[in-house]
Amino acid sequence: MESMEREGLGLTSANDHCQQPAGRGFCPACGREHSFARGLAQVHALALMRELAAAKRIDLLAPPAKANPRLGTGYLFGEARGQMFGVMVCRDQAGEERVLRAFSCQYNGLWEVEGWVGPLFAVREFQALTEEFDPKLKALGAEIARREAEGLCADGLRRERKRLSQWLMREVHALYRLQNFRGQVRSLAEAFVGPGGIPTGAGDCCAPKLLQHAAENGLTPLGIAEFYWGKENHSRTREHGRFYAACKEKCAPILGFLLCGLDER
Ligand SMILES: [Zn+2]
Ligand SMILES: [Zn+2]
Repeated sequence: MESMEREGLGLTSANDHCQQPAGRGFCPACGREHSFARGLAQVHALALMRELAAAKRIDLLAPPAKANPRLGTGYLFGEARGQMFGVMVCRDQAGEERVLRAFSCQYNGLWEVEGWVGPLFAVREFQALTEEFDPKLKALGAEIARREAEGLCADGLRRERKRLSQWLMREVHALYRLQNFRGQVRSLAEAFVGPGGIPTGAGDCCAPKLLQHAAENGLTPLGIAEFYWGKENHSRTREHGRFYAACKEKCAPILGFLLCGLDER
């Protein structure tokens, strides 16, 4: 019931905001900002909310008997809390309208679910890397805890763990391939604009996933709408069933590159 009320709120704002920028980023190559609006994607996002509310799972292409329990939406209302979902309306090369869907980051540990666009990297490569180095990080953590419990110094090990996790982060980032609407391809580090390091989860939000998929597959985006589904986040900046613009921390620094070339289509 609550979700239906929130959908109502979303629809009211749809009419006011659907042509305003819902995501933007500065593009150094063009020396200006590129942006996208929600447009008709808002209507398709509301349809997705209704589907999620009714089916209570995200493997919407699977028949009910074959539903994967891991893909139920109950997960979003528990400890893990909710996450962002995104919908893109685009035009294919034949001029047909198409609708794509994405969830942010992983869903209950899964990067790939049928019916949803995947991440900006090859999942096999990501898994090979994390399967090799996560146990090493865990072992270091356990050893640090053991030493501390015995009153011994663990500073050296702590530095080693920090170095290893920073190295792993750089290696993971190097797996990301970003493509824009000029056909240019960059790594996450090359596409990222702005001071400071690349935040964890950059490139894993819905808008980058959807734009990347469109650019790679010759689709022209017409609008993207992103909404939150599930228990509100700790800081209450994300609430169930509400629409949000692309985030400033992780998305804005790469949207300039990802959107480049789109407004010339
Ligand atoms: Zn984001
Ligand atoms: Zn540009």
